[in-house]
Amino acid sequence: MISKKIQSVQEVFTGRVGFDQDLFLNIKEILETNSITNASIKAIGAVQCANIAWYNQQTKEYEEKFFDEEMEILTALGNVSTKDGEIFPHIHITLGKRDFSLIGGHLLPNTKVFACELEITVFDGATQQRSFDEDTKLFLWK
Ligand code: ZN
Repeated sequence: MISKKIQSVQEVFTGRVGFDQDLFLNIKEILETNSITNASIKAIGAVQCANIAWYNQQTKEYEEKFFDEEMEILTALGNVSTKDGEIFPHIHITLGKRDFSLIGGHLLPNTKVFACELEITVFDGATQQRSFDEDTKLFLWK
């Protein structure tokens, strides 16, 4: 179900997340500094380690896992909306290991960048707002 009409692109930020930076927190800081509440996020690059989560649909809890190894960011894809008036980036990441196998999940803080090229596409129009969803126990778009 589409709950909002397609919006127009207002502007696109491109830039680099620097060596040793925390990928999630750095993106969040860029969004906050520029007051971006309605956007999509794309990134490629490499990490020195990654902290990601998988949502257990039975227990309704995130299960976190830290991978202390060098990996390629094959795709990081996310959106930006608000939750309780706060800017809320939601990013999923697919990572490539040295043996070319893949892992992925919901991006958390404590993912350290080796190199990263970031693109943030800002939309005009109304910002999606998150609210608690009884079925999933997640804060989803209205
Ligand atoms: Zn997620």
